[in-house]
Amino acid sequence: MKRIGLIGGMSWESTALYYRLINQAVRARLGGHASADLVLRSVDFAPVEALQRGGDWVGLDAMMAQAAQDVEAAGADFLLLCTNTMHRCADAIEDAVDVPLLHIADPLEAALADLEIQSIGLLGTRYTMEQSFYRERLEAAGIDVLVPEEPDRAEVHRIIYEELVVGRIEDTSRTTYKGIMEQLAGDGADAIVLACTEIGLLVRPDDALVPLLDTTVLHAQAAVDAALGDLR
Ligand code: GLU
Repeated sequence: MKRIGLIGGMSWESTALYYRLINQAVRARLGGHASADLVLRSVDFAPVEALQRGGDWVGLDAMMAQAAQDVEAAGADFLLLCTNTMHRCADAIEDAVDVPLLHIADPLEAALADLEIQSIGLLGTRYTMEQSFYRERLEAAGIDVLVPEEPDRAEVHRIIYEELVVGRIEDTSRTTYKGIMEQLAGDGADAIVLACTEIGLLVRPDDALVPLLDTTVLHAQAAVDAALGDLR
């Protein structure tokens, strides 16, 4: 079994999901008392959030590069960055270490291809919905990316930062997300992509009229596939 390296804490609410999903999948695959061989570098989210808000992506590149080196030094065979937004720093991470980064969009693209889905409604932070680093990667794979219009986009972002990353799960926010997902499906999205690792804490597949793809689940499964390879 390969050693999985997690760069987490962004937020720890979703990193806890990764930890559970990865260990559950290893046990399901190998049985008995098997669990994942992994290392976790969990950062303090407060300075990360402040640098995001200030637009200091150079500072965040440096912070993520250092975290990646810490995880590599702890013996990880490959890395996962347990947040969609911080994949804006993927190039800085890849430049800083010798081990591969399992990019969160890779298992998403594979799942979309398997399901023959070409048009998605993307929900995530404002950075993920609006900046090019995430959308262009999907668009280069031939996927049409729809995002909510304002003011819905602002509300999707607000709920992530004011509620989900601090562990608040509100029924009113679920209703808001359901309405926004319905709108995206009405606008032509064949699936909804939860491109923020905490949204799965709020909404479930039956909250949407179209298939719901959760990047946290797909990324964690991909980590286990990469760690176990052909192991039975
Ligand atoms: N976990 C979130 C994501 O997947 C947002 C928190 C962050 O800014 O990293 O984008």
